[in-house]
Parts: sequence; structure tokens; C-alpha cells
Amino acid sequence: MDDSLYFEHQHLQVRDMVCDFAKTHVAPVARELDRTSTFPWENIKRMGELGLLGVPWSEELGGAGMDQMSYYITIHELAKVDASHGLTVSAHTNLGTSPIVEFGTDAQRSRYVPLLASGQVMGGFGLTEPGAGSDAGSTATTAVEKSDHYLLNGSKIFITHAGVGEIFSVTARTTPGQGNRGITSFIVTKDTVDLDACRALGVGHVENLPKVRGVSAGKKEEKMGWRASDTRELILEDAMVPKENVLGTVGQGFVNFLKTLDGGRIGIAALSLGIAEGAYEEALKYAATRKQFGKPIGTFQGVSFSLADMATEIEAGKHLLYSTVRLKMSGKPFKKEAAMAKLYCSELAMRTTTKAVQIFGGYGYTADYPVERMMRDAKVCEIGEGTSEIQRIVIGRHILGDLLHEPGR
Ligand SMILES: Cc1cc2nc3c(=O)[nH]c(=O)nc-3n(C[C@H](O)[C@H](O)[C@H](O)COP(=O)(O)OP(=O)(O)OC[C@H]3O[C@@H](n4cnc5c(N)ncnc54)[C@H](O)[C@@H]3O)c2cc1C
Repeated sequence: MDDSLYFEHQHLQVRDMVCDFAKTHVAPVARELDRTSTFPWENIKRMGELGLLGVPWSEELGGAGMDQMSYYITIHELAKVDASHGLTVSAHTNLGTSPIVEFGTDAQRSRYVPLLASGQVMGGFGLTEPGAGSDAGSTATTAVEKSDHYLLNGSKIFITHAGVGEIFSVTARTTPGQGNRGITSFIVTKDTVDLDACRALGVGHVENLPKVRGVSAGKKEEKMGWRASDTRELILEDAMVPKENVLGTVGQGFVNFLKTLDGGRIGIAALSLGIAEGAYEEALKYAATRKQFGKPIGTFQGVSFSLADMATEIEAGKHLLYSTVRLKMSGKPFKKEAAMAKLYCSELAMRTTTKAVQIFGGYGYTADYPVERMMRDAKVCEIGEGTSEIQRIVIGRHILGDLLHEPGR
């Protein structure tokens, strides 16, 4: 892709900086972090210092003061080397921080965003429940109004950073029987599960951040991919949430989280494209050096066609991703395009990594090469932040909405 189509000078600088960081600090540890399912606190500290945990937020709020394009480039570049690092930035920035930036009061913004944007603590977003996955409006978590607080009870599952994080936006039902309009968002806090390590490293924990009693993390999920990312249940047990922690308007939680997910879907598209490109680059190098029948395997048409398909689809994915980012930056509606970019790039990541493993033959099936990790990391991109089926529903509603006199959501 010609860089000048979507990028300006500062975007290329960000890309170079993140690429350099990923090669120096992520590539050497990615395999071991994946094997041991370890959250990369040392790299979190480094990424915080580089501004990578608050790329699009203003400097006043503790962010790097860059734009949305720089943010999605950051995820894309990190994921070329390691999807877990890319996901950490994406979940922390969009799911963990953006709801407070976008829907919070001035007091909430100035209390929580600087801690998140500077990377001092990790954030997350608690939406999914055992009975409310794709059908997120079925939220069963309850929020009962008391004098100066709400009492929250429920279970949020598969929550990225539920263990390592300290600040979360969660949804709960404030008015039973009102469907989606009965759902409200709240900010909740808890201590990180890695207190000792965080205190020793000086990252991930803030002593004087008031914690909400009754919020805790469940056991860590044993996952196929994104293994260096922390995924757990977030438990709300008689959690006493002060009224000042209501995020946005009471009853607007559903509408607001749909907006958050639109931006998140572009993040998963960038992450997926990074995985695809990382796997393609590994396969390309391998095809040029691995010899069979006395020749590099890349000289065989079967292998070169596979690489040609990968390169073509990655190019298409880049245009879809970065044109959607431009749309978002211009303030125009981008819901359909975000769903398309997420759908296309996540399925592309799965196809490309599968082809890359094939090009590596038996070696591709071992942990000696990163393509097997990339293939495992790709799968969940078709599931998280709305499955491929849900993206097709969103796109279908948009393209058929007018014809069926049913405006797309
Ligand atoms: C590693 C990981 C990290 C995650 N991080 C977070 C997080 O930080 N915060 C958070 O809130 N959630 C998070 N999630 C949850 C994720 O968003 C959900 O898993 C996802 O939305 C799907 O919900 P579900 O798992 O309940 O599947 P279900 O909704 O039960 O879906 C099961 C299958 O049915 C299909 N299906 C469902 N409804 C329809 C329909 N109407 N038409 C056609 N097919 C349909 C789905 O596409 C899927 O194939 C995470 C999940 C994972 C695996």
C-alpha cells in the first residue's frame, strides 16, 4: 500500500517507533510469555513510558496526545510480532479507557483517565455474562439503588484484564423489565491480582485509588491463544458503587457500550491484520530459504500462489482498515465499515496463519516458529468484540435496512 494514501509523517514515525519497540522488547519474549501464559508487566511499564497505553488521549489527561490513526497503527504493529501485546493495548485503551473519556463527567475523567492513559494501572470493560454474550442486552447483573450508592451483583465473564486491572466500566440492570433501556454503566475499581510484582516494578497499582468493596477477579482462563493476555471472570458481590461512579446517564449503558464496541472492532481489525502480516512475512522468508527437490519452495507454484493470495488479501485488508479509521476521524458514521473491517480482517488472519503453517510444513506445527502461535492467536479475533456472525448481522441490517424499512442499528 502506498503509505501516503492514509498516513502522514507523524504516523510513519509512530509506526517506526512501535516496530522498533516490538522487535527489541516483544519478539524476544513472546514465545515464553505464550508458553507460560504470563502477563508482560515489564513491557507494560515500557509501553507506559513510551505513551503506548494512552496513544489517542490528550496530554492533559495523561495521554500521548496523538490521533486515532496513530492508535490503530500501534495495535497493528505490535500484533505483527505478538497478538497478546496488541490486544493489551486495544482492550486497555478502547474498552478500558474510552468509555470514561467519552461518557464520563469531568471529575471522572480527571480522576481515572490519567492513571489509565499513562499506564500506571490497567483498565477493562465488563459486558459479557454467562447468559449474555452475543445477546449483550440480556444483562442479568443487577444494580439496586440505595441512598448514596448502588449495590451491584452479578458475574462478568471472559473479561480482559479482570485480574491484572484496577479500573473497569461494567454494565448492570438498573430498571428491570425495560429491556436495553434498563441498562446503566458504572465505574468499578479493585486491586490488581499481581500486587507484589506490581509494587516491586512500580507499575499496575495505585495505593491511593479508592477501591470498591465487593469487586474481585476469578481464576485465570486457560486459553488457546492470546495467552499473554489476562482473561478472567469479574465478580460483583454486593459491590457498593458510589452514585458518583455512574458512567453516563442512567439507562444509557446499552447505547453507550454499542458505541464503544464500534471503535473496538476497528482495533480487532488492526490486531487481526497485524497477525496476518506477521505470519505472511515469516512464510515469505521461509519460502525463500527452505529447499526441497533442490530448490527454494517459493519457486513452486503451489507455494507462490498461496503467498500471492496472502499478499493480496492483506493489501485489501489494509485499505478496509485504514479507510475506516479515516472515516472515524472525520466524524462520519462508521458502524458498518467497522463491522466489515473486523469481519474481513479477522477471517483473513485465520486464513493467512493457516496458510503460513502449511508453508512451514512440519516445522510450522512446532513452537520453534511463531506461526503456530499466530494461528492460535488468530482464532479468537473471529469471536471477541462480536463474533463473525454478529458482524454479518450488523452489516446485513445496514445494507438491507432501508429496503426493508428497518433502519440499521
Ligand atoms: C479471550 C477473550 C477475551 C474477551 N474479552 C472480553 C472483555 O474484555 N469484555 C467483555 O465484555 N467480553 C469479552 N469477551 C467476550 C466476547 O465478547 C464473547 O465471547 C463474544 O461476544 C461471544 O459471546 P459468547 O461467548 O457468549 O458466545 P454466544 O453468544 O453464546 O455465541 C455462540 C455462537 O452462536 C452464534 N450466535 C449467537 N447469536 C447468533 C445470531 N443471532 N445469529 C447467528 N449466530 C449467532 C455466535 O456467533 C457463536 O458462534 C472476551 C472473550 C474472549 C474469548
